Amino acid sequence: MTTVTNLGFPRIGAKRELKRAVEAYWRGESSAGQLLDQAQALRHRHWQLQHAAGADCVPSNDFSLYDHVLDTAFLFDAIPQRYRALADADPLQGYFAMARGVQKDGVDLPALEMTKWFDTNYHYLVPELESGQAFGLRGDKPVAEFLEAKAAGVKSRPVLLGPVSFLLLSKSVDGSDRLDLLPGLVAAYGQLLGKLKAAGAEWVQIDEPCLVLDQDGDDHAAYRQAYAALAVMGRPKLLLATYFGSIGDNLPLVAGLPVDGLHVDLVRAPEQLDAVLDAWPADRVLSLGLVDGRNVWRTDLDRALVLARRAHGRVGGDRLQVAPSCSLLHSPIDAMLERAMPTDLLSWLAFARQKIEELRVLADALNGLVSANSTLEVARDRMASRRHSARVHKPEVAARLGSLGRDASHRTSTYAQRKGVQRQRFGLPSFPTTTIGSFPQTKEVRDARASFKSGKLDESGYDAFIACETERCVRVQEEIGIDVLVHGEFERNDMVEYFGEQLDGFAFTRNGWVQSYGSRCVKPPIIYGDVMRPAPMTVRWSQYAQSLTDRPMKGMLTGPVTVLQWSFVRDDQPRSHTCRQIALALRDEVVDLEAAGIGIIQIDEPALREGLPLRRADWKAYLDWAVESFRISASGVRDETQIHTHMCYSEFNDIIEAVAAMDADVISIETSRSRMELLDAFVKFRYPNEIGPGVYDIHSPRVPDRIEMVGLLEKAKSVLSPDQIWVNPDCGLKTRGWKETREALEAMVAAAREIRKA
Ligand code: GLN
Ligand code: ZN
Repeated sequence: MTTVTNLGFPRIGAKRELKRAVEAYWRGESSAGQLLDQAQALRHRHWQLQHAAGADCVPSNDFSLYDHVLDTAFLFDAIPQRYRALADADPLQGYFAMARGVQKDGVDLPALEMTKWFDTNYHYLVPELESGQAFGLRGDKPVAEFLEAKAAGVKSRPVLLGPVSFLLLSKSVDGSDRLDLLPGLVAAYGQLLGKLKAAGAEWVQIDEPCLVLDQDGDDHAAYRQAYAALAVMGRPKLLLATYFGSIGDNLPLVAGLPVDGLHVDLVRAPEQLDAVLDAWPADRVLSLGLVDGRNVWRTDLDRALVLARRAHGRVGGDRLQVAPSCSLLHSPIDAMLERAMPTDLLSWLAFARQKIEELRVLADALNGLVSANSTLEVARDRMASRRHSARVHKPEVAARLGSLGRDASHRTSTYAQRKGVQRQRFGLPSFPTTTIGSFPQTKEVRDARASFKSGKLDESGYDAFIACETERCVRVQEEIGIDVLVHGEFERNDMVEYFGEQLDGFAFTRNGWVQSYGSRCVKPPIIYGDVMRPAPMTVRWSQYAQSLTDRPMKGMLTGPVTVLQWSFVRDDQPRSHTCRQIALALRDEVVDLEAAGIGIIQIDEPALREGLPLRRADWKAYLDWAVESFRISASGVRDETQIHTHMCYSEFNDIIEAVAAMDADVISIETSRSRMELLDAFVKFRYPNEIGPGVYDIHSPRVPDRIEMVGLLEKAKSVLSPDQIWVNPDCGLKTRGWKETREALEAMVAAAREIRKA
């Protein structure tokens, strides 16, 4: 019989219970015991839910109080020296110190660095390793959670992050080769597997997601060495899990590893099935990832069954498992909590719970249960209703996209020609100063928005409040002496949501939370249909702000790639297609802003880089359509209108040519945190347009001084021509307070004046 398994379940809880529990503990409002009890209750609830939805075997040790990579580091005692004393004295405090740092009573321990988990919006903590590092077992979390499930009558399969991916996702603090640490680490894994076996675990899921990346010979040797070492020890059977893409050229390696089962992602890479069936030994288990763990749509079960039946025919039912493509960590928990949505739209959605129900139907169908037929029939009707819905398909959008010519993604003139016209129009000094858009979103701003949303404050009251904040922001910038002003973005809750709420084709959930990092969750919009802009979205506030000042007021938009990247995107057409639709809607906004007298318009694309595919071979295709989409949004204006863009969150050196191809007149880009490492790219590549490398980090309340910023600008001057350089912070100021913002911007303007004199 084919069974239903799951690779991981969201930990946070349908109503973000874990967030509340953990934050209460951090604030000292609850004890460690209370937190652990709440965590246990959530695990139990989630196991029950998965069983009730039809899972034959559920994961354990997929739970985490903060992050599973941190759990792994902690478990194997990969604890940097600075946290050791704390971790020894109080493991829970030590654990959270690694996650969040400690600043208290003269102690100042920086947290581990955080970075994106593959190409998801989940962030993990990057373990720090050093040469000669020892590993051992600290605590027994996987064993304890397995036993906890067992005691509750739940048969579970513990999940571990595999040793090779663990090392590859870590960083070496002393430049040594992380893979040198493999033997010691594998010995500790061996110990743990022995304990799991003794506790009664039949199978363990061992995740090696790095197997879908480009891996070199050293990496391959590491996998061979690790799994050979684990094969000789007494241990449970191992299911090697790969996800987020195709195993591709790593397949011969994978097929030769001495493990007992393999999980493959057939949602992102259905085309790999035949190769896997050919390569994977016939006496081992195969787990098929058939339901998308990263999106919110119901599965086309007929299409999934075609793949599943092909595998069934080759390996037989007993060695086959059906599963989500990856852990359901990246999916909200239960679509049934979204009853406020239109019923047809709701019927197209599958969150974690519904995904397991879908897997049950697939397994039942494979197992020949007639009862599956009626469910499949219902699923077909749902698919058909989505395929033909007028809510989804707007012929005018398709027609407009179809008739887009090459001109649509090109400004009328080249940058060299635009430059002169714009210089004349704006008459800015050299090293012009500006900011990235948002100003402090204070408690008053958030309270006013909440009152407005709940009906306590009426629209005119709210508008008056926003107008007042905007005016104050304009005055402050004038006083400080900034050259290109912004309105402050006080009217915006979130840079994607604000636009999504005003565009057709977007829906919002009540409880569609997904963990971003630690206790932080996001509720991404769902793009379900063709995107259209029924009315201008930002013109009113930009125009109002411009009316308050003689200085240029920059209009502020979120770019098409970023809107796409931070939403759940429809799966019935290519992402590139949806991106172009958003780009067209934004193009109309840009043109309207221009017509309303806004001469400088910034289209933010902080998420451009994070959309990069995991394999280098796929980068170009992505960058082509991403850059084209940006250009479609930006190219409807005259030469004298200056287009800015902004990027942050990552390094851009390896995509700098694509960044330049966006052809924004000016880009502001995060660089101060890396001490202007970006500039290294300009030694080889001459950046053609204007650029503001961020001169101070807005992520910390620390006020940078003028001298430091002059130093960074000097550095910029050494590889860029002085008339290319703008002066701005790294990113928006919304998380900062007013006092430090003012001081930092005063210092920034002073730095610009000083560099102008030189
Ligand atoms: N304009 C936005 C802001 O200043 C940009 C935010 C971002 O880059 N993430 O807040
Ligand atoms: Zn930014």
